[in-house]
Amino acid sequence: MSGNKHKFDTLKIRAGYNPKDHNYAVSVPIYQTASYDLGGTERANRIVSFQEDAWLYSRINNPTVDVLEKRVAALDGAAAGLALSSGMAAVTYTLFVLAEGGGRILTSPYLYGGTFDSFKSIINRFNINIDFSKNIDNIKELEKEIKPDTKAIFIESISNPNGAVADIEALAALAHKHNIPLVVDNTIATPYLFNPIQHGADIVIYSATKALSGHGNVIAGIILDSGAFKWDEKKFPQIYKKHYTLRDDKNNPRSYTEVFKNLAFIDKARMDYLNYFGSTLGAFDAYLVLIGIETLSERVQKQVSNTAKILEYLEKSPYVAKVNHPTLKSSDYYGLALKYFPKGAGSVLSFEIKGTLEQGQKFIDALKIFTYLANIGDAKSLVIDPFKVTHGELTPEDLELAKIPLNLIRLSIGLEDADDLTADLDQAFKTALK
Ligand SMILES: *Cc1c(COP(=O)(O)O)cnc(C)c1O
Repeated sequence: MSGNKHKFDTLKIRAGYNPKDHNYAVSVPIYQTASYDLGGTERANRIVSFQEDAWLYSRINNPTVDVLEKRVAALDGAAAGLALSSGMAAVTYTLFVLAEGGGRILTSPYLYGGTFDSFKSIINRFNINIDFSKNIDNIKELEKEIKPDTKAIFIESISNPNGAVADIEALAALAHKHNIPLVVDNTIATPYLFNPIQHGADIVIYSATKALSGHGNVIAGIILDSGAFKWDEKKFPQIYKKHYTLRDDKNNPRSYTEVFKNLAFIDKARMDYLNYFGSTLGAFDAYLVLIGIETLSERVQKQVSNTAKILEYLEKSPYVAKVNHPTLKSSDYYGLALKYFPKGAGSVLSFEIKGTLEQGQKFIDALKIFTYLANIGDAKSLVIDPFKVTHGELTPEDLELAKIPLNLIRLSIGLEDADDLTADLDQAFKTALK
């Protein structure tokens, strides 16, 4: 079953998998193999010249991982996907493909801490310059920051930890006006709450570690390609360049666009970066993500309803100075949240505690149900102090740019009983602020 005609909840259980092709196994088998028999020299000739699709070597493709790629692509209406061993690998490979040989990426300061730090201090060592725009909410001003060598706009649909919502349709229109793709990290939303491609995005990224798998038991990443972006030959020569590795059966070198047509981007990510940089997702980890996705809608629905109850509690709390979540009327992003997130805007929220840094730390230590760790989207409710851990690499100036004060506490709401969660918060506030 790989057709996209079915609805979301059917796709999340069945897309990309047909038991008949796998000895009628009902649960997707874990293909725990490094390599695959080539079945004779003639078949091998056809495989290496791309005349026959085949499993070759599990660094590049694997039947279990393939089901995951097809399934997530189906959930988001993408043409194809590439699974990797982490969300950071998905971010990095995307930028490498887009700005290979040098270029700029236009982004916002409202980013996951690892992404922010990699953009600021690692990616730039590879001749890829990152422009952190303060005008991500102001399309007219943002347009002035697009330079001739800007290769993409990169944003998070809902940012972590502040819940900034990007105006995807406006950003997609701007990017396309300048012949560059819009890349959206949709980790917090998941495909259940938001499908970026339907609103104009060209490339979607997930840390599948988070709510997509949802059980805090695996590190994984996914890149999706809409298959619709028209790659400008002057701006993206790397996609049109002929490579010997892409040769036909007469040894003529070919380009990614010749061999993979509209999937040139995602296949270049696989054939160049996954193949040679090697952030391969293991079959067992792909299996864990697939099992998690079977309950994606049910989990996210409960997390969204729990989050609404926690927000209501926090907004009334005398111990809280400010609550950040795009579904709150007090949020600058309330209008965009209504437009793009009718089913809810995820289960990550943050708040400023009315107290000193020490009292904030005491609050975290006093919590009995919330687990103190760096992760989000888990079935278990989680707490973290972003300035110290998730965004700990940011300098004081960067923290200000990203709007992360020292008394900010981030929660990721899980699947426990909401009354137990609010009671836990309440006792911890009383312990810390008495
Ligand atoms: C966690 C996260 C990442 C990185 O993913 P890993 O799987 O931890 O490598 C990227 N983007 C966002 C929004 C995240 O929350």
